[in-house]
Amino acid sequence: MTANVGDLDLFHADGDPGKAPGRYAPSPTGRLHLGNLRTALLACRAARVREAPFLLRIEDVDTGRSREEWIEVQLGELRQIGVDWDGEPVRQSDRHDLYRGALDRLEADGLLYECFCTRAEIREAASAPHGELPEGAYPGTCRELTESEREERRQAGRPPALRVRAAGVKVGFEDHLCGTVEKTLDDFVVRRNDGDFAYNLAVTVDDAEQGIGEVVRGQDLLDTTPRQLWLYNRLGLAAPARFAHVPLMLGDDGERLAKRHGAITLEERIESGEDPSAVRRGLVESVEGILGPG
Ligand SMILES: [Zn+2]
Repeated sequence: MTANVGDLDLFHADGDPGKAPGRYAPSPTGRLHLGNLRTALLACRAARVREAPFLLRIEDVDTGRSREEWIEVQLGELRQIGVDWDGEPVRQSDRHDLYRGALDRLEADGLLYECFCTRAEIREAASAPHGELPEGAYPGTCRELTESEREERRQAGRPPALRVRAAGVKVGFEDHLCGTVEKTLDDFVVRRNDGDFAYNLAVTVDDAEQGIGEVVRGQDLLDTTPRQLWLYNRLGLAAPARFAHVPLMLGDDGERLAKRHGAITLEERIESGEDPSAVRRGLVESVEGILGPG
């Protein structure tokens, strides 16, 4: 990690992952659609080309949306499409101690505070202009509450989320596919007010703990990476050497793949008469060239 590149506070260059593991990390909230499967194939191939291990991680940190039964379904879909992984998949629900440890470290460094805002309050406050922060950013309403103000809100029965003090920090990174990405952070959530650990916290802790060298994932997550880079930095963890955010699969109308585009899951394709190997061939052909030769 190189600090102070240009006017950035934090910059992460596109590095060489060597033979450090790659990974795919599905959330068990439903069937994987073809875009997910394509990303998984790309991530797997990228690791195998480097002769690196490829790990699977079940991202079931969102307890409200994750369902046990989807885990086996998704693993089956990945196997059918020819994604193979090393060892047993790890599950975020088994790793709460790691996330708690990371929160303790942030807390010890004075980087956490309780936020009692409702979604509606944040929407309303975020729509007012507030200097350098991007649109929709959390405006820092609860940043400087006194202990008695916090106590008052707790008494009123509002469970707090935990946010980090990151507002205004400019983070950039060189994505292997998307080029330079820059973002000014706001005070983002690391533990939600329902008690669940936030995606950004869990994924950072996991990728560091599993020694991931290269993160290959969909471009819908491109915007989350600067927050994770801030967390790696503040937690004293090594970030993956390389990030590659792959283009999302689009429907015929150029819009992001969704149910209305018809048969978008492997099951639906099989039902309509295709066999898994043909689906795999189609997916592989659609990604030729995305990650370069190999
Ligand atoms: Zn707040």
